[in-house]
Amino acid sequence: MNQTPLRLLIHGASGRMGQALLRLAAENTDTLQVVAAFTGRSPAQRVVDGVPHFAASELSGAPAFDVAIDFSLPEGFDPILSLCVERGAGLVSGTTGISQAQRATLDAAAAKIPLVWASNFSLGVAVLDELVERAAQALAGWDCDIVESHHTRKLDAPSGTALTLGAAAGRGGAQPHYASLRAGDIVGEHLVQFTGLGERIELVHRASNRDIFARGALFAAGQLAGRAAGSYRVRDLLAG
Ligand code: NAD
Repeated sequence: MNQTPLRLLIHGASGRMGQALLRLAAENTDTLQVVAAFTGRSPAQRVVDGVPHFAASELSGAPAFDVAIDFSLPEGFDPILSLCVERGAGLVSGTTGISQAQRATLDAAAAKIPLVWASNFSLGVAVLDELVERAAQALAGWDCDIVESHHTRKLDAPSGTALTLGAAAGRGGAQPHYASLRAGDIVGEHLVQFTGLGERIELVHRASNRDIFARGALFAAGQLAGRAAGSYRVRDLLAG
């Protein structure tokens, strides 16, 4: 059975994530159609591989779309969120560094449109989040330690993902401690360790390629289409 491709708007298209999204979407044209790509500054070319490109200042004139995927910067976040609300379209955003006020606007928008904002779009991390919460619930009184390793250019520590995993452990009743390593070109590793008397559980996620975030965002966009308004987590969108 033929299905109509999901119409995507990519916001932050000239960035590392935006480029990965465009490349991976182009490999799945049966199910995905990028109808517009927006960049912070005026695009160097108006049409690239059949995809119309626009400057962020032209957002109000965007063609019809089902879901916007936003990996831009905090200053680009409010306009794309407003556009999605105005058009009744879904939003998948991985833009980090958004303020408390932007977070509150996002929460309010969830009453009107389906959306997912995540600091990490890897499907493996979504599953790890669930496992950590479950382990913390079951292992009351065990020590919980989160060790994250990243490349030397990463400035923030602990990573946003470590804090998200720590929140999952906290919901399960644990009080996590954090350690951060900065070494070489490590894309990202997160170890969540539960230690009891005479035994230890180690839950680890290793990212070897940044495409996992773009793949996860495209997956989330596909799952979001047609859902009721609300704020979804990546783990809510996984089967089972
Ligand atoms: P990048 O700097 O390579 O690209 C940023 C993009 O945003 C560019 O296309 C730029 O033109 C655009 N932009 C800048 N200002 C804008 C504005 N005012 N309006 C609209 N667009 C604007 O960054 P990147 O590495 O692609 O990362 C983008 C964002 O995604 C960052 O916040 C990063 O931390 C985040 N990120 C999240 C995940 C995740 O899984 N959640 C993974 C990787 C990166």
